[in-house]
Amino acid sequence: MTSQIKYLLDETHLPKAWYNLAADLPVPLPPVLHPGTKLPIGPADLEPLFPMALIEQEVSTVREIEIPEPVRAVYRQWRPSPLFRARRLEQLLDTPARIYYKYEGVSPSGSHKPNTAVPQAFYNREAGIRKLTTETGAGQWGSSLAFAGSLFGIEVQVFMVRVSYDQKPYRRALMETYGARCIASPSPETHAGRTILASQPNHPGSLGIAISEAVEVAAQRADTKYALGSVLNHVLLHQTVVGQEALAQLELADDYPDILVGCTGGGSNFAGLAFPFLGVQLRGGRKVRVIAVEPAACPSLTRGKYAYDFGDTGHLTPLVKMHTLGSTFTPPGFHAGGLRYHGMAPLVSHLAELGLIEARAYHQLRCFEAGVQFARAEGILPAPEANHAVRGAIDEALRCKEEGVSRAILVNLCGHGHFDMQAYMDYFAGKLRDLSYEESELAMALAGLPSV
Ligand SMILES: *Cc1c(COP(=O)(O)O)cnc(C)c1O
Repeated sequence: MTSQIKYLLDETHLPKAWYNLAADLPVPLPPVLHPGTKLPIGPADLEPLFPMALIEQEVSTVREIEIPEPVRAVYRQWRPSPLFRARRLEQLLDTPARIYYKYEGVSPSGSHKPNTAVPQAFYNREAGIRKLTTETGAGQWGSSLAFAGSLFGIEVQVFMVRVSYDQKPYRRALMETYGARCIASPSPETHAGRTILASQPNHPGSLGIAISEAVEVAAQRADTKYALGSVLNHVLLHQTVVGQEALAQLELADDYPDILVGCTGGGSNFAGLAFPFLGVQLRGGRKVRVIAVEPAACPSLTRGKYAYDFGDTGHLTPLVKMHTLGSTFTPPGFHAGGLRYHGMAPLVSHLAELGLIEARAYHQLRCFEAGVQFARAEGILPAPEANHAVRGAIDEALRCKEEGVSRAILVNLCGHGHFDMQAYMDYFAGKLRDLSYEESELAMALAGLPSV
């Protein structure tokens, strides 16, 4: 194992290549389909939205894809990100478990998202693109792309889900600081947005709607492309720097995880941590238990259907096979805005179908309880999304205590919560509730799945 990992890192301990799980999958991923013909799409079908370098990564089955030096030069500002052992949390829980966390909150925008925003901006600039459009939930992705755009001289336009736009004004201010333009979605600026506003003027928005708006704008101009912060294969690929560094860092600590935990919105931070370890397992190395934790109010992996669906509400995207709650599903406005997406990454969905990962869902109050416990022990205040992963790790550590066994648990602490203090204030004031979606709304959204 040792040599397998070390040659992947350069002298600054930064990975030289991204790790592509597609190379080691026992069963290939189902193809992406054209929504009209229902036939597999080709690279040309994606060209209006993405530069060819990213499309090639999207469909690649090559195991290692070199990280361009200009991207690594930016990564070096905060990578390798630290891996900590949570000794004080272990003591507090009185558990024999060894809890480790990989901390992605050290990036300029405070989460794992710049790991993909930077290469996406880079490849678009190389392709001569002048402007990128995107959606954002909690604002983590929007601010990450805004940051990356400012580095590579690309204009960024962000459609921000209305409920988060109102809940998180400071994220919007950060995007504007980096020079991006931020618009509440649904907006009157696009056909997709106007259609929704006509029937529901106070619509809280959803990632699915914001994606439709961003895609619509990008598809209209040759110098404008679209960037997605999760779900797609190339996004998950870029995040694998997280797991590769963790492999090497744990080797320094002379340990190896028995259990990996990550929260899942679209699946990218979870994949970034887990895929390099799953790769070791799939190539005949050590096995790991991998746990995806999702919000009970938007439970695509645990309650969704594994089916072909659109990535957006306005049905402008190709069809991908994934765990989905239906593209018209609007989750309630809980505080982990980054986890409010109707679908799960096709690669993560595929792994769940193959039985290579597990999934569970938690309500938000128990997650905030875990996040506060973590902050009081370790000092780092997790993002509301990350609280789901922390809850999962604490539950596993408590199980170790019950069973009297010491296991190593590695959790992806995917971001800090410094822009999410309103959520914490609401939690301390007893104003936060566990929200549930309407079963009838889920049934209706699932009934609308395209027939393939
Ligand atoms: C965006 C975000 C998520 C959810 O997205 P994934 O693609 O599932 O990682 C989770 N945590 C944080 C901090 C985020 O910014």
